[in-house]
Amino acid sequence: MSAPHTSSNATHPHSPDALGFDPEALRARYRAERDRRVRPDGNAQYQGAGGEFGYYTEDPYADPEFTREPLHDQVEAVIVGGGFGGLLAAARLRQAGVESIRVIDKGGDFGGTWYWNRYPGIHCDIESYIYLPLLEEVGYVPQWRYAPGEEIRQHAQAIARHFDLYDNACFQTQATELRWDDAESEWTVSTDRGDRIRARYVIVSTGTLSQAKLPGIPGIETFKGHTFHTSRWDYAYTGGDANGGLHGLDDKRVALIGTGATAIQVVPHLGQDAKHLFVFQRTPSSVDVRDNRPTDPDWARSLKPGWQRDRTENFLKVVTGIRTDEDLVNDAWTSSARLQEKLIPTNAYEDVPAEERERAYELADFQKMNEIRARVDAIVEDPSTAEKLKPWYRYMCKRPTFSDNYLQTFNRPNVTLVDTADTHGVERITENAVVVGGAQYEVDCVIFATGFEVGISGILSGQLPVYGRQGVHLFEAWSQGPKTLHGFYTHGFPNLFQLGPLQNAASVNFVHILDEQATHVAEVVAQARKRRARYVEPSPETQDAWLDTLRKNAPDLHMFQAECTPGFYNNEGMPRERNEAYADGPVAFHELLRRWRQDGGMDEVLVEAERA
Ligand code: NDP
Repeated sequence: MSAPHTSSNATHPHSPDALGFDPEALRARYRAERDRRVRPDGNAQYQGAGGEFGYYTEDPYADPEFTREPLHDQVEAVIVGGGFGGLLAAARLRQAGVESIRVIDKGGDFGGTWYWNRYPGIHCDIESYIYLPLLEEVGYVPQWRYAPGEEIRQHAQAIARHFDLYDNACFQTQATELRWDDAESEWTVSTDRGDRIRARYVIVSTGTLSQAKLPGIPGIETFKGHTFHTSRWDYAYTGGDANGGLHGLDDKRVALIGTGATAIQVVPHLGQDAKHLFVFQRTPSSVDVRDNRPTDPDWARSLKPGWQRDRTENFLKVVTGIRTDEDLVNDAWTSSARLQEKLIPTNAYEDVPAEERERAYELADFQKMNEIRARVDAIVEDPSTAEKLKPWYRYMCKRPTFSDNYLQTFNRPNVTLVDTADTHGVERITENAVVVGGAQYEVDCVIFATGFEVGISGILSGQLPVYGRQGVHLFEAWSQGPKTLHGFYTHGFPNLFQLGPLQNAASVNFVHILDEQATHVAEVVAQARKRRARYVEPSPETQDAWLDTLRKNAPDLHMFQAECTPGFYNNEGMPRERNEAYADGPVAFHELLRRWRQDGGMDEVLVEAERA
């Protein structure tokens, strides 16, 4: 007969027997796998794809011979960035009655991320019905549940046509400086094409992950074969298009470096068409079920006006843990959010002590990751390859990914997985090979799926210098850290707005977040025009109050992130102490903005003409 303490332990709901796994063993494994990968050089292990590596970021899609006369004119609003943020800002300004809008973008057309990234297999892994913005305005229902990149890019262009943004747009043009003119109360926007554009309002939306980065692998510059970054796919070399058919690789040995969300989509096509594919992996991604399917035409016909807003808001609620009766999207994102609640009785949610709730989250996380690892075993035939493909970290330590053909690709005889965890990544690149653990893998082509520099925008990265009142540089005003109201505007920089995840609230469906931001900014501009206000500008006190709100309630993510395997979510294993996201999450933040607009918030930022 068992001793009493043993029998009660065995029936405890959190015991290894009851759970079917040992939480302590998993914790130890996660820590060991993390320690294998942490590098003392953190972010310094990367280099930008500029300077001598500038060819990695050249535009393969636009006309390299394009020229035009410099513009010396005036518009009411300049928008820097023609991705979804810029498009939404322009659309919402149009709806608010602003006629004279100019969008400036480095690319040759609208689309942003979806202009640059056209690699084979590209899809958005957020459901298309909530990711593609302004569907009802443009009169479009996406053809697939998870849309291919080309459909998304075309939708960006359709938005631009619908809101009449092409005529005044400047493409293949990089904004190089924003300078406030106190006397004229206007901005001068300078560009690399010699433009001097004067504008009453400037909105900057230059993306969060827009600058390709390369690993600082010794010898990277010595490689004599062909090489490019996934965000500038070279179809002239590979043949084919985003649907595959890369027959230029039929006789090529290809190295793919990186196994993040991009690589997950690329690998099946490279495996299909390359003579041999070597996938160099440092940390495996979690790869969940995709289950893409074409849009049901009956469903599309049944949609009632307002459907997109309802669906988008419902998704945001579900994935940010707000209890709702229905889950309209019901996919791997929403079910993983629900999973966190599985071990907590829903009606007792608020009452569960924080420690208890954290334990429940962790157990749910272990269960989810066990499923992800079991999926690897079920699909990958070679046990040693399967072992290497299993992710050992908590679900949100890295961007979750979804695919129904990535893991299967490793069953092909022409595909080799090379694990680089023990050498902290690829060790060296030579004239004709990629070196790991002393072994040389001779290849004809090296493709970098190594991601992007993490900065919120041209403004924060310093690539777009901004000079406000009295010629003060924005970084001088922010010498103690960014100071904004709601993340959008800063004292001393009137009529300048930025969109992005700074001192506000974000979520995985980032286009929805951008739409709320664009709507807010457009309403502020509309009020400024109506009241004939000269400046939109928060006072220093308003900014300080906002910073206080953020800091007082900031959730402590440090402990969670410190335990995570390194990546860009946790500053490469060195999580920042300070978290300035709005603690109550995006749903509450959007409500806060609505209330602010209704309850006289505008009075805080609109400086009337007669008082200016
Ligand atoms: P990531 O930054 O996510 O991945 C970079 C990859 O390169 C990682 O696997 C990294 O390994 C690896 N790597 C870096 N340095 C080395 C090295 N020296 N040796 C070997 N491997 C190395 O970039 P992605 O382009 O994949 O994704 C970026 C973001 O873009 C995503 O997080 C997501 O936000 C977005 N995205 C969204 C998609 C969507 O459908 N919505 C699709 C694709 C991308 P390690 O993990 O060990 O650092």
